[in-house]
Amino acid sequence: MNRLTNKEITIFCSSSNEIDEIYFSKAEETVLALTEKGYGIRYGGGDKGLMGTVANTALKQGAKIIGIIPHFMIEREWEHKGIANMIRVETMHERKALLIKDTNAVLALPGGIGTLEELCEAVAMKKLGLFPHPIIILNTNGFYDAFIELLTRMVKENFMETSLDNLLEIAVTPSEVINIIEKG
Ligand code: AMP
Repeated sequence: MNRLTNKEITIFCSSSNEIDEIYFSKAEETVLALTEKGYGIRYGGGDKGLMGTVANTALKQGAKIIGIIPHFMIEREWEHKGIANMIRVETMHERKALLIKDTNAVLALPGGIGTLEELCEAVAMKKLGLFPHPIIILNTNGFYDAFIELLTRMVKENFMETSLDNLLEIAVTPSEVINIIEKG
C-alpha cells in the first residue's frame, strides 16, 4: 500500500487560459499521476487556466480535491463551480495559510505573479524551518530556469546560507514529481 494514500498535495499554478498547450497537457499528466497514486489535491479554487485543468482532471478521476478561495474572487466569478469541498475565506492571507496547512508537499506548475508569490512564500517558510514538507517545481519547457538561476546566485553570493537542495526540488517530468514526493 502506498504510505501516503489519502494525503494531499498543494498545487500552485497559472490562472491564464492564454498559455501554450504544453503547459495544459503536462498539468493534466501530473494530476493524473498524482491521483492514480491516491493523492488528493489542494488548490486555489479557480476554474481558469492550469487551475481549471488541475481541478477538472482531479474531478474526472473521482479524486479528492479541496479548493480555497476568497470571497472577492467568487464575486468575480473565478470560482470553480464543480468543487464540492470549497473553503471560502475572507482574505488572500487566510487562503495562502490554508493552502499549505495539512498538506504533504507543495508543487508549483508554471504560472504568473500569483503562482510565484505563493511559491516564494512556501520557500521562505521552508528556509525558516516553518514548512517541513517537499517543495517541488515542475520545470516544463524550462519555464523556471531563470528563477532557479536567481536562487542559485543568492546561495552562491551568500544571500542565503543554505543549499538550494534544502529548499526545493526540481522535476522535469510528472513521474519525477511522484518520485520526489514518494521519497518523502
Ligand atoms: P497567476 O499565477 O498569476 O495566474 O495566479 C494564480 C493565483 O493567482 C491563484 O492562486 C489566485 O490567487 C490568483 N488568481 C489570479 N487570477 C485568477 C483567476 N482569474 N481565477 C482564480 N485565481 C486567480
